[in-house]
Amino acid sequence: MAHHSEFPSSDIYTVPFYVFNRFPADIGLAIMTHCSPHDLVQLQMTSRSLYAFLGTHKHLWAAAQANVGLPPVPIVEAGGNRSAAACAVFIFTGGACTWCSKFTPAQPFSFVFRFRACSPSCLKLLLSDVSLYVDKSKTYEDFSWGRWLPRSKLHSPFNVYSKRDIKYADRERQQAINIDNHSSRRDPLGIPHRTVAQLNEMCLKRARSRDALTEHALRLVSWQTEYFKLKATVSRANYDFIKLMSAVEGKKAQGILRTPKGTALFQAFNRDLTKLTFTVWLENRALMFAQLGCMLDGVFPVGAVGRPNDKLRCSYCPRLIKVKGMADHVVDKHPDHDPDTIPFIQKRDEKHCPECPSSKRLYTKRGLKDHKLNKHSTILLSKE
Ligand SMILES: [Zn+2]
Ligand SMILES: [Zn+2]
Ligand SMILES: [Zn+2]
Repeated sequence: MAHHSEFPSSDIYTVPFYVFNRFPADIGLAIMTHCSPHDLVQLQMTSRSLYAFLGTHKHLWAAAQANVGLPPVPIVEAGGNRSAAACAVFIFTGGACTWCSKFTPAQPFSFVFRFRACSPSCLKLLLSDVSLYVDKSKTYEDFSWGRWLPRSKLHSPFNVYSKRDIKYADRERQQAINIDNHSSRRDPLGIPHRTVAQLNEMCLKRARSRDALTEHALRLVSWQTEYFKLKATVSRANYDFIKLMSAVEGKKAQGILRTPKGTALFQAFNRDLTKLTFTVWLENRALMFAQLGCMLDGVFPVGAVGRPNDKLRCSYCPRLIKVKGMADHVVDKHPDHDPDTIPFIQKRDEKHCPECPSSKRLYTKRGLKDHKLNKHSTILLSKE
């Protein structure tokens, strides 16, 4: 029986980014004009020299944006970090859900308010008046220090603001007042140190930038609609390609797509609206097959979670067991191990009783409490 002590990773198979440093500059440049904004962000992070190079060759960012149809980033007096790189990161590398702060690979869904949601329930909350303020009394429309607040009129006759923006503006203002009053109280949010006069000046700059930023945000909305359509088309073509190549090689497409390399390729090419090619397949098939072989042998990559019918190698003996039967197997054969924490198996809300090692029964938190009280509590007995 083959035993894989280590899951094959990309590092030993694929060409690392630093090869760019070895190319003559003009070849590097020629390659980079075909990059997506996401590629350039990745590239920028690989070395200090590439960071500097991409900083001075602004046209590469323009080309990358054009490659995925992104509208150019406006040049404004104030608006936070709105460089092409920051915009690419914001759109393509995922980020914290605006509601619950959990990381999500999802693109933002509101560019005016810079909202991102990790789930339908967070999305609902972000679109409700828990997060949005419909300004019926026109408080912020011409508010001396709120003129810059991003606003939307899309679904209402009134301006709609993000409550997060209003809260931030309030706290920023309060800190400036504290600073003017020589109070040492500082906002824990880490708001920049500004006096009221400095903040007023900043707010004026932001107000002057507001229209350009709103326009850019609206252009991003139409870009995104088009992008998702194109992405769906490219994804279908790439899926068909993987299905065809897998069939040619006698593998299952679903298996190939579940390997870390297969997943990464599929997602990267779809994201960059690029079709997978035979060359790409040839460059990556060895790694994908090695990974697939491992997974069919019941060894999964670090961090992966098995599906109920996946066969997994038991952590304590050489047997292959279906994910859904693994907990029972551990109870039966390895009573000294915890059946509730097994690698590659999703942790459940329901748990086994640690004091009944031969029981396969699962309890809810509440149920386990009751069970322990009934079966393992000595306090109850002593009362009688
Ligand atoms: Zn969330
Ligand atoms: Zn076992
Ligand atoms: Zn028990």
